[in-house]
Amino acid sequence: MHVGFVGTGNMGFPMAANVVKAGHRMTVYDARPEATSELERLGATRAADLPSLARVVRMTLLSLPNERVVEAVVLGAPGAPGLLAGAQPGDLVFDLSTVSPDSTRRLAARAADRGVRLIDAPVSGSVSGARAGTLAVMIGASEQDVAPWKPVLGAIGTNLFALGELGRGNVLKLLNNYVALTGQAVLCEAMALADRLGVPRATVADVLGKSSGGSFILERKRAALAARDYSPGFFVDLALKDLTLALALAESAGARAEVARQASRLYAEASQKGLGTLDSSGLLRLLEP
Ligand code: NAD
Repeated sequence: MHVGFVGTGNMGFPMAANVVKAGHRMTVYDARPEATSELERLGATRAADLPSLARVVRMTLLSLPNERVVEAVVLGAPGAPGLLAGAQPGDLVFDLSTVSPDSTRRLAARAADRGVRLIDAPVSGSVSGARAGTLAVMIGASEQDVAPWKPVLGAIGTNLFALGELGRGNVLKLLNNYVALTGQAVLCEAMALADRLGVPRATVADVLGKSSGGSFILERKRAALAARDYSPGFFVDLALKDLTLALALAESAGARAEVARQASRLYAEASQKGLGTLDSSGLLRLLEP
């Protein structure tokens, strides 16, 4: 298949690389030209702009920081036409970015006016999962809709969840990050407490990892936490974005979200203190002695 890919950052690059390595032809675009150079070496072609990309592919994947950027890429911005300017009726866009379910539905309606189908397909499993091609992909469409695209989506993730309804992918993604990011904040607090008690972080990871305090985040980040290495990964600013979206979802549904609200305050404080482009576990910088 000939696949378009827009947004080849920390997640997008390894996902796109796996699609190319699975034998698909790829045309790629990123606002930072240097972000596509390694993919070009792997055989992808860089498009000059978004309409040029949309003209040559019938299916495009997006991996962009937030909904404002996703909208600008799809609809265009003043002086910068978007994908729809080059798309044809019948084209398909899978948005792998984490955005609100409402923004997915709004944008899909705008795309549908031009005959283009946009489906939310956010991913989970961190950069290491993206490299390994083992992500969970949470898709706001039916099994039947997803089936023709499994050769591409299967190169990105081993767990494809067809959730049946537009926006449901982002609902599940935000529920996931609600748990994962709140849990990470608590883990950071526990590590900072261990620092003060003189317990090595590696020992905490060894013991909690085999006990009820273990988690996916602990397993993925234990070596980096022990080495105090907070290079991204997944930016503090993106964690703050996701928790903010999850809290908005909770508020609109009338659900209490007190623990997640406290956690989001810590991510916000880290961002305000200039730690926004550290890995989200860099929250520990705020807390460590
Ligand atoms: P990133 O900032 O590393 O990558 C985003 C890329 O989009 C960058 O290369 C940037 O240059 C490009 N970009 C920005 N504006 C653009 C525009 N107008 N046109 C074209 N390209 C543009 O972020 P990331 O960590 O790769 O995250 C991407 C998405 O995936 C986010 O929505 C994030 O929440 C989600 N996500 C990230 C992780 C993770 O571990 N990093 C995990 C799961 C989901």
